[in-house]
Amino acid sequence: MGVADQYEMVCGLEVHVELQTKTKIFCGCTTEFGGNQNTHVCPVCLGMPGALPVLNREVVNYAIKAGLALESEIAEFSKFDRKNYFYPDLPKGYQISQYEQPFCGKGFLEVNSKKIGITRIHLEEDTGKLIHPAGTDYTLVDFNRAGVPLMELVTEPDIETGEEARIFCQKLRQIFRYLGISDADMEKGNMRCEVNISLYKKGEEKLSGTKVEVKNINSFKFVEKAINYEIERQSEILEKGEKIIQETRGWDSNRNATISQRKKESAHDYRYFPEPDIPPFEFTTKYVEEIIKKIPELPDAKSKRFKEEFNLPEKDVEILISERDLADYFEEVASELEEKICSQEFSLSKDKVVKIAANYIITELRKHLVENNETIRDIKITPENYAEFIGFISSGKINSSAAQTVLQEMYRSGSDPSQVIEEKNLMQMEDDGELEKIVENVLKANKKSVEDYKSGKQNAFQFLIGQVMSVTKGKANPKSAADMLKKKLE
Ligand SMILES: [Zn+2]
Repeated sequence: MGVADQYEMVCGLEVHVELQTKTKIFCGCTTEFGGNQNTHVCPVCLGMPGALPVLNREVVNYAIKAGLALESEIAEFSKFDRKNYFYPDLPKGYQISQYEQPFCGKGFLEVNSKKIGITRIHLEEDTGKLIHPAGTDYTLVDFNRAGVPLMELVTEPDIETGEEARIFCQKLRQIFRYLGISDADMEKGNMRCEVNISLYKKGEEKLSGTKVEVKNINSFKFVEKAINYEIERQSEILEKGEKIIQETRGWDSNRNATISQRKKESAHDYRYFPEPDIPPFEFTTKYVEEIIKKIPELPDAKSKRFKEEFNLPEKDVEILISERDLADYFEEVASELEEKICSQEFSLSKDKVVKIAANYIITELRKHLVENNETIRDIKITPENYAEFIGFISSGKINSSAAQTVLQEMYRSGSDPSQVIEEKNLMQMEDDGELEKIVENVLKANKKSVEDYKSGKQNAFQFLIGQVMSVTKGKANPKSAADMLKKKLE
């Protein structure tokens, strides 16, 4: 039994998400990423004396949306506070944040049917960025990021495994994307995660351990790895009878380890006080109801509905709902197909046709998207045309190799499938007489393979099928071709 088995973990997360409003939280500067250094700035976000912040209303709407999606209590009263500290990336000498009256209180998010509690969600402004040019002994500061709206979400210490933490973060990203409030991309830094971990021995009091913070985690995979690493590291120390040092550590992805960054000597005193330049808030029921109306169906609900409505396996549903646009696309295709099924254009059941549509989206269509570095939003194929394409497959009018060609052309040009099929002459051969002639010719031209087949070589059969398909340019129904071939060989 490993050392880690004798300990239980207490783990909570702090997640920072950059909200994708067009302008910053307290001024009209753009939030756009990049641009020359210190060009997306004004007296407000540069902290000039006398400059006054004006709150971006949309930022508040976004935070309330997030709170509602995560079942949080929405505060009736809320306010901003000043968090005072000095750092070169913080020009005012304080950050406008929220202390004891955040916008959103307790909520939760379900991970593998378990509720992970959310303590609070609040808003604050992002800081600038320090740049340390290589080989120099000075530091530059870029304030383009200063004042970008940041939403902080704190969880209860409910997380019990690294995997749980990873899934929690992935689900958060999915929800924020559904809500359209942030891309929440950890690799790009618009979602940042901090992990707080302590261990306690089984049978002891839950919060008896010393808390270690791990920062600089920039991917979902690393959230899981960092937690697993800390469980091992801390349990080994405890097993030796030593004490865990309260400190901040960072995740080093090259070394696959957390490394000490700084010891926590004392808790900071930020001297929080109410921000005098921004009046406090009072949220009316009417306002909250208006926001509720703008919340789309969320991933968990959509997943449940897709399973019931379309009878698809869990794995397929998970992929289809991974992005809201992809789920919408699939649904539009499914409803187009439903019309065709009702008018009996083909004899397959609804479940079978929908499954074919899902399969082609999950495998073929996504392959094209990846190859072209595009998303479903960029796609030229309309749901109507896509449904028509699935109709051709379902009714057996084109075979699977022709389907690939058709889809590729549709993807490239956006043209409708009947046009592509006609232009490329891909309609499946339905005339058995024609197929029979072709099979006879193939057998004549490949006497050696026929002998091989008769002496028991199965490969020869595959070769002959290949010849038939090649002569028919892939238009023969592979099954009809195989049947015809067998008949002629006997
Ligand atoms: Zn500004």
